[in-house]
Amino acid sequence: MALNKVKGTYDVLPTESKKWQALEAIIHQLLKDYNYQEIRTPIFEYSQVFHRDSEQSDMVTKETYNFLDRSDRQLTLRPEGTAGSIRAYVENKLYANSDLTKMYYLGPNFRYERPQSGRFRQFYQFGIEAIGATNPLIDAEVITLSFDLIKRLGLKGVKVRVNSLGDEESKINFRKALVKYFTPIKDKLCADCQKRLVTNPLRILDCKVDHKLKEFINCPIPTDYLSEKSSKHFAAVCATLTASKIPYVLSPKLVRGLDYYSETVFEIEADIEGFGAQNVLGGGGRYEGLVAEMGGPTTGAIGVAFGMERIILALEKEGVKFYEPDGLDVYLLVFDQKDMVYSMQLAHQLRSQQISVDLCFTQKSFKSQLKTALNLKSKYIVMIGEEEVKTNILTVKETDTQQQEHVPASILARHIKEKLK
Ligand code: AMP
Repeated sequence: MALNKVKGTYDVLPTESKKWQALEAIIHQLLKDYNYQEIRTPIFEYSQVFHRDSEQSDMVTKETYNFLDRSDRQLTLRPEGTAGSIRAYVENKLYANSDLTKMYYLGPNFRYERPQSGRFRQFYQFGIEAIGATNPLIDAEVITLSFDLIKRLGLKGVKVRVNSLGDEESKINFRKALVKYFTPIKDKLCADCQKRLVTNPLRILDCKVDHKLKEFINCPIPTDYLSEKSSKHFAAVCATLTASKIPYVLSPKLVRGLDYYSETVFEIEADIEGFGAQNVLGGGGRYEGLVAEMGGPTTGAIGVAFGMERIILALEKEGVKFYEPDGLDVYLLVFDQKDMVYSMQLAHQLRSQQISVDLCFTQKSFKSQLKTALNLKSKYIVMIGEEEVKTNILTVKETDTQQQEHVPASILARHIKEKLK
């Protein structure tokens, strides 16, 4: 029986993985520059970590992979990175060490969604969490960091959209205004939004179906209901972004999908031709109640998460060269099988000096070994024949210039290293 991958998953094939490694390297460097440290949490958690009373988003209620383990523990594959990170923050009392914990994560998440371009059931996110303070300057730093990522990657058609939901008081007032506005025209809303009007009216603004309705043009927006404290907070965020020359746009109807957000919310959107509906590369916001809800102190936090597949897709659509092309330093071209052991020993010597080396294990002809060397874009070809083995002097050819020299085996590594500089 031929076995296939699970629907909504994909393989990163050996020829593709360098893209991922390059993206990961850029992320690690960026986060280092902003003094964030990596946290690695398990990909499964006890279900309560995600299935909290306060979190009723579709992602948690409809899309999680839940299962019982062999001891009947109720577990869930993580659908996002924040809840597990906060669980670890609280469980390990990280708040005791520092008044602001800056951490980031990178890894696979699982959501039972309808697969389509840029939407998978196993997908990679990297995200950051700054936990322990409510200072608006931290919001500005997180948004700046998100913008910097886009800049470092070399993406051009990207927008940073920013909004504020305000604190609890602001959210309650805004919620009331929304219910008052939409209740008389309830019938015009989609079935999901009719339910949201009762359960979670804020999410109506997020609706991909209803946002085209003309009634949406003048509907209440969160910033009209901000408390004085929240207004000041948001003004400080915007002023700092402006001072840092971050080209953000105010996006009055942005609310974000998860229920725990308050105050600042933002999204990074790719405005790239042919990108389709899945154009949100990342998004985040401030959350105030989550740490306490998970058993920690009452403290402020802000986070952002990016979809890594979408970033790679955007880079490819814009034709950005973000990874090194294939290449090998040396290919050993072995004329006779009996000299393979000699060649293996030579390969080992070169590799131990961090020179990348390959050779043929399948008894191919000289011509096809040469073809392999050229396909692998090897910078040098070292020929090993009867004479070379006898004298320990090797024939080294530079692929680009076709220049050939004879080099004693004892100094080959040093010689090649010198040339590679
Ligand atoms: P969220 O955690 O829903 O706020 O999503 C943050 C980012 O993760 C989105 O902007 C996407 O780039 C990415 N993302 C979310 N769900 C998926 C998915 N099913 N497949 C691929 N990327 C996703």
